[in-house]
Amino acid sequence: MRYYFAPVAPHRIMFKKLRILILLFILATVGLGAWRANARITAWDNTVHVAIYPIAGDNSPASARFVAELNNESFAEIGEWLQGESNKYGKTVLQPVAIRVAPPLLEKPPMPPPSASALDAILWSLKLRWWASRHDTIAGPRPAVRLFVLFHDPDLTPAVPHSVGLDKGQVGIVHAYASRLQRRQNAVVIAHEMLHTFGASDKYDLGTLQPLYPQGYAEPQRQPRLPQVLAEIMGGRIAIDEHAAEMPERLQETVIGTETAREIGLLKTR
Ligand SMILES: [Zn+2]
Repeated sequence: MRYYFAPVAPHRIMFKKLRILILLFILATVGLGAWRANARITAWDNTVHVAIYPIAGDNSPASARFVAELNNESFAEIGEWLQGESNKYGKTVLQPVAIRVAPPLLEKPPMPPPSASALDAILWSLKLRWWASRHDTIAGPRPAVRLFVLFHDPDLTPAVPHSVGLDKGQVGIVHAYASRLQRRQNAVVIAHEMLHTFGASDKYDLGTLQPLYPQGYAEPQRQPRLPQVLAEIMGGRIAIDEHAAEMPERLQETVIGTETAREIGLLKTR
């Protein structure tokens, strides 16, 4: 038998259709699961269990030592801060998040593709969620949110890559510093990514890193408007003037603004 054009065997077409169908089914299941989980996380009526998986971000002995010494106490201020902020919005749940630290992981999670198409991003997030489910070494209640935190030696890595918290995906990859001096600023970065997994969006200009007005400002009504003295947690920085903004040094210098509060279920009314 001879073909005059490059044929595709019928069973291969079937197989391709089947693959697409399976992929669609997985996406629908994952989407539904994420939506249900997000509804539970943002109800603010029960403690949300958050797991932190520390990972040494490089081969430096300092990073390994730092990671080995972390415990629940190391991240306690994130829980205390969220308790205070949720109280401001009238929520009375005791301990809205319980953060627990897993034993350090020796493997790094799959990193996000540098400039991803929407499909690449979806596939990466599936891969990350799958990886996360297979690297769960934490004791106690099953965590609703998993944050993989890579700690880098500041002497080796003066500027760490961008952290990623999957919007409504309940997983995040956070880059932090293996340094006691940076502990409080690490808490700001971890809280920011954690709130992404609750459904909060970024409120800063991705090009200039300037907080967006008004949603990225802690006190948009402040007179004069600039300089601000606090940061909105998803705005990321304290706006000093039109072109400069500073990283807050600790969580006590950040607040949850009204738009973020709406996105994560703390505020229902418009
Ligand atoms: Zn962000």
